[in-house]
Amino acid sequence: MRSLIDTHSHIYVDRFADDIDQVIGRAREAGVETIVVPTTKPSEFAPALALADRFPEVRVAVGVHPHHAHEIDGDDLLEIERLGTEGKAIAIGEIGLDYYYEFAPKERQHEIFRDQLRIAKRTGLPAVVHNRESDDDLMRIIEEEQDGLLRFQLHCFSSSEEVLRRAMDLGGMVSFTGNITYKNSTLDGVVRSVPADRFMIETDAPYLTPVPYRGKRNEPGYVSLVAAKIAEIRGETIETITLMTTANAQRFFRLALLLVALLGAAGVRAIAQPTSPAPVREIDTTAKQDPPFNKLVGLGVHFASSSYIRGASTDATATGFGIWGTVAPLQPLGVNWLQIDLIYTAVTVAGNPFDSSFIATRAANPQDAGITVPPNHHNTFDISMRFTANPRKTITLYGSLGLTYFHNQFGIDSYLISRNEFDRKKYVDSVENNWGPSVAIGVTLNLETPFGTVAPTAEWRYGTILGERPLPQRKQEFSVSQPRVGILLYPDFTKLF
Ligand SMILES: [Zn+2]
Ligand SMILES: [Zn+2]
Repeated sequence: MRSLIDTHSHIYVDRFADDIDQVIGRAREAGVETIVVPTTKPSEFAPALALADRFPEVRVAVGVHPHHAHEIDGDDLLEIERLGTEGKAIAIGEIGLDYYYEFAPKERQHEIFRDQLRIAKRTGLPAVVHNRESDDDLMRIIEEEQDGLLRFQLHCFSSSEEVLRRAMDLGGMVSFTGNITYKNSTLDGVVRSVPADRFMIETDAPYLTPVPYRGKRNEPGYVSLVAAKIAEIRGETIETITLMTTANAQRFFRLALLLVALLGAAGVRAIAQPTSPAPVREIDTTAKQDPPFNKLVGLGVHFASSSYIRGASTDATATGFGIWGTVAPLQPLGVNWLQIDLIYTAVTVAGNPFDSSFIATRAANPQDAGITVPPNHHNTFDISMRFTANPRKTITLYGSLGLTYFHNQFGIDSYLISRNEFDRKKYVDSVENNWGPSVAIGVTLNLETPFGTVAPTAEWRYGTILGERPLPQRKQEFSVSQPRVGILLYPDFTKLF
């Protein structure tokens, strides 16, 4: 079953009033799972939201189209922000510039466009952008407003490859509509060159009806014809284009995340058995602003090099391995700079210099001739909050603050206890459990792959035991300095739904 998303469809207009049930029915038959309904002025908000109440596949964007920029005031903008904040709308749009009709003066269009881009940033919602014969001013305003927080879609993309490149550099997405099927279309070049993870499909119903229905009323079910034309131009299968554009739209509009948050366990399934063929993705390393990465839940392994510090000197160094889990609990709400890390590390120290010298002083004792001492085992479990300074970049930097639980097992102590010849009051146990604060700094490389985001990560963590140590014979402070390198996979859950 194909699963398509029509990312732009004005199905609240009068032309659908009589047969909206049949229109939605035909969309379902065509495999359309979600229809994003953008609005163009405040009087359309209620009818669009009513459709969302009636049909589960309908999601609404609220915004003022440049055609109506001269008709609205500050209260209308407040209403847009309120609907965005309250979760009634999944995007701000459609907004933008239209110099072809120029119903509103250009200056007014700029002002209202900019105001709404800022609403998009404040609410954490993506912006659905309309552009007609206004490439230069539109891209300049987006560039000025892009501070890393703006996510935007240039809908009905009909501009040049140069504009496409600028939009990609600014972290944007584009969507294609029925006009790519027209005989006189000059859009084959942009359709071919847009990166696989940066485009979506739409109908813009009731307008821009694709061939062979050109001239008739457009409707969401015809979005499959747009997918088919893209497949033809790019030389790929319709299934591939469907998977790509649906995954891109789910990510851009955050369509599946709340569901995913409820079904966190599905992450394990995603690692074990990817359920659908993965679309081809390209990594756009030229992007100045990268789209937000999918980093809801990650799991990986790491390699650590530990230095154990007692008092003022390094006691031992050794290497070990561990498991690294992480979750971004607020990502469904748009917060992607906070992660909770859970990291287990096991390090074995054989023959550390401190114990060796201790053993040497015992060597004179005939009873200890040829003794072998078991290694020390140091297990740590870190739980910490990771704050990423620039979560949307390909290379991100972070600081982390948390607690470390230490489980230390000292081989020489267990040996001495087993010999039963030491001061029993002092040597009561060879294992200690303790905890204390830890801090870390790190760097992560985020790579988009067909399986999700793969993130090679390096961090340096310093943890220390707080308070009295339970082992009387080890009664000095104990700290661990531990650089680690790991690789984490953040599965793309949108592929599962
Ligand atoms: Zn438009
Ligand atoms: Zn539109």
